[in-house]
Amino acid sequence: MRESLGDFAIGRLDAEEAATVQAHLDGCADCRAELAEVSSVLGPLSTVDAARLGDAPVPSPDLGDRIVAAARAEGRAAERGRSTPRRLTLAAAAAVALLVGGAGGYAAGAYDGIPREPVAVQAMEPGVEVSAVAIPHTWGVEIVLDGDGFASGATYRMVVESKDGREVGAGEFIGTGESKMVCNMNSSVLRGDAEGFKVVDTSGATVLRGDLTAT
Ligand SMILES: [Zn+2]
Repeated sequence: MRESLGDFAIGRLDAEEAATVQAHLDGCADCRAELAEVSSVLGPLSTVDAARLGDAPVPSPDLGDRIVAAARAEGRAAERGRSTPRRLTLAAAAAVALLVGGAGGYAAGAYDGIPREPVAVQAMEPGVEVSAVAIPHTWGVEIVLDGDGFASGATYRMVVESKDGREVGAGEFIGTGESKMVCNMNSSVLRGDAEGFKVVDTSGATVLRGDLTAT
C-alpha cells in the first residue's frame, strides 16, 4: 500500500486503485502521515527543471569544512544542554510510567496514538494464562505479555516469526510462577512483516504461540 502512495499523491492511479488506497488511508494513520510527507515535496518537485537533471551537482569547495564546523558546534551545544534536560526527561518518563501502570495502560486500545492490538494466544503448557497485545513501532513490533503461570525461575525466550520464514529473537524473561507479570518483548521484525510469535523454554519446547496474521 505504501508503495502506491506516491502514485496516489500525483493522481497516477486508476479509479479502482485510488479507491483501494483511499479505503486503506481511512483506517491507517501511518499511511496518512506518509502521504502528507509525500505530498509536501510535490510542490517543490514541480519546480524542478527536467532539462538540467543531467548535470551532476558539484559541492562548493568549502562544504567539508562547513560540515565539520557545524558538527563541532552541535556537539558543544549538546554537551552544554546535557545534564538538566536529560534528568527532566527521565523524571517525565517515570511519571508517565506510573500513570500508565495506575490506569491499566496495558489494556488493548490506543495509547499515545499508538494502537495496541489484541493478539490471539494459545498456551501449550497447563497453568500458563496470558493475554498479549502487539504494538507496531517504526523499529519493529513490540509484544506485551500479561499474565502468569510461567514456571518460577525458569528462563523463556520469545521468537517473532516473519512472513518470509525468519525467526527473530524478541528477548528473554524469567517465569514468575503464580505472580502476575507484564513483560514487554521487542523484535526488529516490523508488524506488517510479522506472522506470529512463540515463547520457548530452555529445552526449545514451545510454551505459547501468538497469531499475528490478522491485520
Ligand atoms: Zn497503512
